[in-house]
Amino acid sequence: MTDTADRTTSADPVAEVKDWLAENWDPDLTVAEWWDRLGTSGWAVPTWPSDWFGKDLSRSDGVRVQQAIADFGALPAPGGLGLMLAGPTIAVHGDDEQKTRYLKDIVTGQKAWCQLFSEPGAGSDLAGLNSRAIKDGEEWIVTGQKVWTSGGHVADLGMLIARTDPDQPKHAGITYFAIDMHQPGVEVRPLREMTGRALFNEVFLEEARVSDAATIGGLNNGWRVANTTLMFERFMAGLPSALPGRRSRDRRRVCSASLSDITSSYPPSGGSAHRSSARPCPCRAQACGACGSWPRPHRRAACRCRRRRAWSGPRR
Ligand SMILES: Cc1cc2nc3c(=O)[nH]c(=O)nc-3n(C[C@H](O)[C@H](O)[C@H](O)COP(=O)(O)OP(=O)(O)OC[C@H]3O[C@@H](n4cnc5c(N)ncnc54)[C@H](O)[C@@H]3O)c2cc1C
Repeated sequence: MTDTADRTTSADPVAEVKDWLAENWDPDLTVAEWWDRLGTSGWAVPTWPSDWFGKDLSRSDGVRVQQAIADFGALPAPGGLGLMLAGPTIAVHGDDEQKTRYLKDIVTGQKAWCQLFSEPGAGSDLAGLNSRAIKDGEEWIVTGQKVWTSGGHVADLGMLIARTDPDQPKHAGITYFAIDMHQPGVEVRPLREMTGRALFNEVFLEEARVSDAATIGGLNNGWRVANTTLMFERFMAGLPSALPGRRSRDRRRVCSASLSDITSSYPPSGGSAHRSSARPCPCRAQACGACGSWPRPHRRAACRCRRRRAWSGPRR
């Protein structure tokens, strides 16, 4: 994963993905069905290892493939912190059992992740974190508070770093966990901004439980694993500038569009390929495939649509 810049790649990945799209893109699919098809094909994250939902492509070829998918007019990979941060981190530091447990749900958009790093007293000085994890049989009991948790209110899983050995120097006594956000010990409180939106959250962990099998990268090795996540975060933050201007405009268009807006432009001749089955919810609530955000006012959490329960798209 970390040496993808040096990889030699297949002859023409752009031609390959175009052929694949011509055969597989179908606007009649639901979002969940499309993301399953894209994710399991290896084209959602072609820079990941070919054994784990990728195609072993270099970063530059990965960007070219993303551009080809956008140019084709197909819905891009699910996005969000799972695909951007948790997935690549697990691909580097996770064992095979963990890769099997987490990666497919990430590439197919079935599980959303948040990043439980920052704390009220540990922002720039991240290694000074105070959240504690104490071993209890095959589990850890976690108590502490996180802050600035983007998307915590819609996350299924969290990339958690917590202190597991307070007697070690601060960088050495930290462990990295994949914690289930849907449990009684995890309380997510939105932080309302001046705009009225609440993208960030405080997360209160009160004797939350996480399995020992969800320790990523080994006991007290969390600082190293967290730095892998932060390295991918820096890379993703720089990605838009690595893409041509056309791509930037496409990202904005996708962010503000419903699925039907996206699919109605396909086929380019304006045929009748788009059918209502492509809309996962009658209110047209749809997470942005590029950035994972919810176009207002169609956020699922705010949706009062009666058919909300029948929503068949991926959970975000
Ligand atoms: C858009 C966005 C999304 C985020 N999402 C998440 C998330 O999902 N999960 C998560 O865990 N965190 C998230 N964060 C938090 C972020 O990654 C940082 O950890 C956090 O913003 C820094 O902590 P703080 O706000 O407490 O600032 P502080 O650490 O208090 O720093 C305040 C100021 O003091 C400066 N400063 C600090 N120490 C020193 C020093 N020794 N010398 C000189 N200057 C210093 C800093 O540069 C800064 O200007 C997000 C932040 C942003 C902006």
